[in-house]
Amino acid sequence: VASCLARIHATEPQIQALLSVQAEEALAAARAMDAQGPDPEKPLWGVPVIVKDVLCTKGVPTTCGSRILENFRPFYDAFAVRRLKEAGAILLGKSNMDEFAMGSSTENSAYHPTRNPWDLSRVPGGSSGGSAASVTACQAHGCLGTDTGGSIRQPASLCGCVGLKPTYGRVSRYGMVAYGSSLDQIGPMTRTVEDNARLLQVIAGHDPKDSTCADTPVPDYLAALSRTDLKGIRIGLPEEFWAQGLDPEVEAACSAALETLKSLGAQPVQVSLPHSRYAIAVYYIVAMAEASSNLARFDGVRYGFRDKEASELMDLYVRSRSKGFGEEVQRRIMLGTYVLSSGYYDAYYRKAAQVRRRIREDYENALARCDVLCGPASPVTAWKVGELTDDPLKMYLMDIYTISLNLAGLPGMSLPVGLGKESGMPVGLQLLGKPFAEETLYGIAAALE
Ligand code: GLN
Repeated sequence: VASCLARIHATEPQIQALLSVQAEEALAAARAMDAQGPDPEKPLWGVPVIVKDVLCTKGVPTTCGSRILENFRPFYDAFAVRRLKEAGAILLGKSNMDEFAMGSSTENSAYHPTRNPWDLSRVPGGSSGGSAASVTACQAHGCLGTDTGGSIRQPASLCGCVGLKPTYGRVSRYGMVAYGSSLDQIGPMTRTVEDNARLLQVIAGHDPKDSTCADTPVPDYLAALSRTDLKGIRIGLPEEFWAQGLDPEVEAACSAALETLKSLGAQPVQVSLPHSRYAIAVYYIVAMAEASSNLARFDGVRYGFRDKEASELMDLYVRSRSKGFGEEVQRRIMLGTYVLSSGYYDAYYRKAAQVRRRIREDYENALARCDVLCGPASPVTAWKVGELTDDPLKMYLMDIYTISLNLAGLPGMSLPVGLGKESGMPVGLQLLGKPFAEETLYGIAAALE
């Protein structure tokens, strides 16, 4: 804990990965545990962790990167946070994020942008860019992020760490501030595959407080790591993921990793996800629709920021939300409200829900022919801070390889596979699996690592 805090002290002025640090509390907890001695019952005994500021932490500020929750201190822990603590982990701080997880660069945080530890002039990706930068800079041994459309995998790819988005329902969403409830999942971001498996082992499992959380047994993820060859593993290569638009340096690093997979015995299989060209359009309708509904609860009355000058109730809502929410969040609430409104619901939301089903069927068909799918996690390596902030549409296009997985509810992982020849920045390979087959992803990743 002390060494991680020293690391935070040394790196935070440049990277700004965190929104709050609980140094005193963490040291006190560590001392108390030290006095008692190691507890073999606690698999993460004394392990320093940092969680994304979208997860409720008892008595500790939880802002979601937004002004509207600036002074919000929850009175309970999210399920995943409680599990970490019960396993002996020590919370060091809360990590920066795009406001309400809306973004791909962590520049939409209402507080400050986070920088990529590999090159401070570049973004760390997003929306879990704080967690990715933090664990990459060794501020903690593991971080939690959340992934609605790629927010664990894309920053993991841009920062060169390991990020896993579990199957929808694998980890309870209780205490995670909702963005797109049918897409959101919490998952670990770490420097190694083993660390990642250790964290998932602790946070996965049934929770009656989240009705979408699956009551499916949690396998022994660590046992999956002993894999040294990939004989008999069929790796599906979706043609749409290896197509034009993919940056040559990303393609080169991913292809090299693919060669390694083959040399370990894996067998490539050509597959297709024909509806993936609709994925961005479908995602941004579904996610915005759900966000507009989820964010209705921030009304200036129950939580966080309240405008003091309001004269009556409607005025209070309008003023508190106009001042409390940032530009991107307001844009999405408006678009989401529009696609759900009477007269447009059938044209947009219902249509998107129908195409979502097609996208899921594409994955089912492709995964019937192989064990995992594989492709890049992001079409490019980390871009410069400020480069895309004026063009939200271009920013949305950066999610092209990550978002369809959330629409299908499947597990996916980004694994660092080298540096781009041109930029010198990390490249992530994405492995996509069958429902609840996280152990398969870990096994392949361990062999490749
Ligand atoms: N970049 C995507 C968005 O802005 C995904 C974000 C996420 O996964 N939370 O919606």
